[in-house]
Amino acid sequence: MGSGPEGASDEALLDTIEKWLERDVRPHVLKLDHADEYPFEMVEQMKELGLFGATIAPEHGGLGLSATTYAKIVEKISETWMSLSGIFNSHLIMAACVERNGTAEQKAYYLPKFASGEIRGGLALTEPNAGTDLQAIRTRAVRSGNGYVINGTKTWISNGIHGTCFALLVKTDPDASPRHKGMSCFVAEKGPGFSVSKKFEKLGYKGIDSAELVFEDYQISGEQLLGGHEGRGMQAVLGGLELGRINVAARGCGIASAALKDAVHYSQIRQTFSKPICEHQAIQLKLGEMATRLQAARLLTYDAARAYDRKERCDMEAGMAKYFASEAAVENAMESMRIHGGYGYSKEYHVERYLRDAPLMCIGEGTNEIQRIIIAKQLIERNPA
Ligand SMILES: Cc1cc2nc3c(=O)[nH]c(=O)nc-3n(C[C@H](O)[C@H](O)[C@H](O)COP(=O)(O)OP(=O)(O)OC[C@H]3O[C@@H](n4cnc5c(N)ncnc54)[C@H](O)[C@@H]3O)c2cc1C
Repeated sequence: MGSGPEGASDEALLDTIEKWLERDVRPHVLKLDHADEYPFEMVEQMKELGLFGATIAPEHGGLGLSATTYAKIVEKISETWMSLSGIFNSHLIMAACVERNGTAEQKAYYLPKFASGEIRGGLALTEPNAGTDLQAIRTRAVRSGNGYVINGTKTWISNGIHGTCFALLVKTDPDASPRHKGMSCFVAEKGPGFSVSKKFEKLGYKGIDSAELVFEDYQISGEQLLGGHEGRGMQAVLGGLELGRINVAARGCGIASAALKDAVHYSQIRQTFSKPICEHQAIQLKLGEMATRLQAARLLTYDAARAYDRKERCDMEAGMAKYFASEAAVENAMESMRIHGGYGYSKEYHVERYLRDAPLMCIGEGTNEIQRIIIAKQLIERNPA
């Protein structure tokens, strides 16, 4: 793989994934989602497909895919069941933190195990009192001998139950000014003192585990300090955000696309007043808007992904894509539900799930309020008076 942004091998992988989704995923989605059941079998299949190493470099055992191909994969998977993408997305952001910032030993030990899915996990940043304002976190790592002792609570952590390893953001110097200079990141594996205290019940994003993690006198070796330096944690986790936002945008495109596809299909088979509802102008207006919104979301998403692949600064582009595509997912899901009438509200159809899943895209990887602020700040920075 990695033979250019959209090479033949990438197309072959996308084709394999599409077939897998139709054969092994789609038939089970309604049952697993409604039961909020973790898809163990699908996780094994995702390992075989190499998804846990999608963006990890080939020299570390990954597929080394471009952001563009990765976004296409995320969109496809999210069209079928958005939750599945969460199982490898936050895992890959953790892997990117290690790949970009880790010591040679950390990379050599962890990256091949992350790529194969032998060790899986995610990002442990958010705390009960700090989400958007990450610099307000309170989890504290205190030096002890050759290592550290960590105390604190992390909340809303994706893969928190079934994952075993997390990029853990802590304060090593709570009095530092500016605050980020006192923040560090550890590659933290579960063990004594590191426990799961709660599984969250959620509106949507079912199947994947979102948990609260508690650290009580959790002892960790100094070798687990990411990059071997204190004070660089915030930088390390923020470095993964551009790709993270492109990934959330792609998830938004997936939901917006699924909502549109279902609406296009249903509007042709449902009849009212002796004709298919797609022949009523009121429905056509909705379909026209939904399709345009999806196309615009895709263009923004793939524009940001290509800029990322060219190694250009793309925080504004990724922010625009994330903001627009997530709102497009919410709007298309709602319109699709309206087009489905009463059936859209039924658990026998997929549409109600799109409407439960879509709002998360407006919250994760920086809320949409923050995205617009980032876009505005970039605009000013790039266009000085
Ligand atoms: C299902 C799910 C999975 C998640 N997975 C993870 C995970 O794997 N790892 C992880 O670390 N976290 C995870 N999170 C947490 C997520 O990243 C946070 O919820 C998100 O960053 C928002 O933080 P908050 O909930 O504390 O909201 P707050 O920061 O309290 O924000 C509340 C509101 O205030 C607005 N706001 C805040 N500051 C400003 C400002 N300066 N200007 C304007 N508006 C502002 C926000 O936009 C929002 O509308 C997950 C959350 C959910 C729901």
